[in-house]
Amino acid sequence: MNTSEIRKLFPILHQEVNGHPLVYLDSGASSQRPISVIEAMKHYEEFDHSNVHRGVHTLGSRATEAYEGARAKVARFLNASSEEEIVFTRGTTTALNLVAGSYARSVCGEGDEIVITPMEHHANLIPWQQVAKATGATLKYIPLQEDGSISLDDVEKTVTDRTKVVSVTYVSNVLGLTNPIREIAAIAHRHGAVMVVDGAQSTPHMKVDVQELDCDFYAFSGHKMCGPTGIGALYGKKKLLNNMEPIEFGGEMIDFVDLQDSTWKDAPSRFEAGTPMIASAVGLGAAIDFLEQIGMDNIAAHDRKLALYAQNRLSEIEGITIYGPKENRTGLVTFNLDDVHPHDLSTVVDSLGIAIRAGHHCCQPLMRWLGVSSTARASFYLYNTEEDIDRLVSALLHTKEYFDHGLR
Ligand code: PMP
Repeated sequence: MNTSEIRKLFPILHQEVNGHPLVYLDSGASSQRPISVIEAMKHYEEFDHSNVHRGVHTLGSRATEAYEGARAKVARFLNASSEEEIVFTRGTTTALNLVAGSYARSVCGEGDEIVITPMEHHANLIPWQQVAKATGATLKYIPLQEDGSISLDDVEKTVTDRTKVVSVTYVSNVLGLTNPIREIAAIAHRHGAVMVVDGAQSTPHMKVDVQELDCDFYAFSGHKMCGPTGIGALYGKKKLLNNMEPIEFGGEMIDFVDLQDSTWKDAPSRFEAGTPMIASAVGLGAAIDFLEQIGMDNIAAHDRKLALYAQNRLSEIEGITIYGPKENRTGLVTFNLDDVHPHDLSTVVDSLGIAIRAGHHCCQPLMRWLGVSSTARASFYLYNTEEDIDRLVSALLHTKEYFDHGLR
């Protein structure tokens, strides 16, 4: 993988911020887009735009082909068995809310259980709290081990025959670890529960095969994998999707409408009421082409190598605390430095042109488990280099000096 050639394809990276060349280390929040994605969306807007699935005119057919073509790319990218298993959504959050609001609400009742972990992003936590409150189900947590990982023994102990849903993130956006989804799915299935996967942080960084994982639902966002905002998808096994009630109603999702009652099309249409985000879907399709051209295995190796390098370099700084397991990090490092508040840390490094994330990362229960209110996080993608990390280390040393001096 030739990172310097790849960098040339991302126009946004070639600018100065606060008088310094930009170092972008916040791809975990949102990645940047290559020129091919920007151009694909521009071409669609300039030449092909119309509404989809409606008109019989030429632009209508082109727009429909572009939109459905993007769905086919997503299906192939995740190795779904058919395009009908891919529902376009606004992103991971909307996809998980769809599973919770439709599937889980209909199968859960008093005494049933939903099982998640304390490392979940709020998007994979609050929807389940809401289902538990509405249905009388119990929300149970697989405990975390000392390094933040979960053990399959604990999964075995937590999941029971009353469990209806197990929902776990594939890669943690704070700890950077990868959960053993295939094994957790096997346990869930033995108890008759469905397996839901939050794929927001895994899909950009590794090859995902939903059939091999044997998950029932898988959610991800386009904007974290070189695609635009406003688009993502829910993968769901066909027989499950076609037995789920829609949670939004309107045009294009219906089969037959009468004055008092209506029937729905099969999935995915029944979950895509109204005019969809067509240009964003085109952009997501172009992002998948781009990632596949580079190769997901190459990207995975690059991101893991950078995370390891960052972990080693950051550990050299006195007063740093790095969170999560020592090994197998997927593209990010979360840390605190002395008593400097992460927001201050992030502000000082930003003044040197370096973008990192600070805050609770939408993981307040995990922050509480770590015993902190917030952390800093540097996250890496295919356009980052070891020099970017060296710049971060120098900036952190500068920050440390700045605050130490202030305290003297
Ligand atoms: N889950 C995880 C693990 C995430 O990192 C994120 C994004 N920070 C989300 C869910 C939510 O993604 P989105 O905001 O794109 O819906």
